Amino acid sequence: MHKLDSPPDPALCARCHQEGHGCCQASAEGQANMFGLTLGEIALISEVSGLEPGQFSVADRATDEFLDFLDSIHPLFRQTMPGGRRRRLKLDQTFACVFLSARGCRLPAPARPLYCRLYPFWINPHGRLMVLRSERCLAQEGARSWREVMLRLGQDEANLRGLFAYLEELATEHEAAGGELNGPGFKVTP
Ligand code: SF4
Ligand code: SF4
Repeated sequence: MHKLDSPPDPALCARCHQEGHGCCQASAEGQANMFGLTLGEIALISEVSGLEPGQFSVADRATDEFLDFLDSIHPLFRQTMPGGRRRRLKLDQTFACVFLSARGCRLPAPARPLYCRLYPFWINPHGRLMVLRSERCLAQEGARSWREVMLRLGQDEANLRGLFAYLEELATEHEAAGGELNGPGFKVTP
């Protein structure tokens, strides 16, 4: 580690949530800009939480502006929202994710949506690791490189690449099924 790099801070995300600007907290405007869940993620969350998909997710449409913006980051996003149809995490009356509690996410880490597990990292279409820039993310505050952000969050590149590869698989599967909850291979009740 570079001697100026910040060490991992296990309380960083909790602090960010307490300050009310963590990545699990949206806003009235921000809910238009949420990523779509894949069918595989919905099935896993449903199995682990014992909830029906309609209790933790909402079916709606992504705007053309949002989809155009996402196209500038990666084509995978369109696969998770075929034809603009999206199933996103449900928010409560404060626009927080329904799984968010005072102690963080209620879901065990392996059952969380992959973009939650990846955030704020992404892999660009050329295979390079990048950070989705946000002024609200405490892990990015004053950081000079994505490596520093990664260290602060206790992440590692191999794990992030593995998560992204899995998301690619699920996105392909989701698109092939037309994003339908009860499409071939997905016995999930909306
Ligand atoms: S599922 Fe968990 S990690 Fe993802 S937005 Fe909701 S509370 Fe946050
Ligand atoms: S990843 Fe960033 S935005 Fe999300 S809770 Fe952690 S510090 Fe906050």
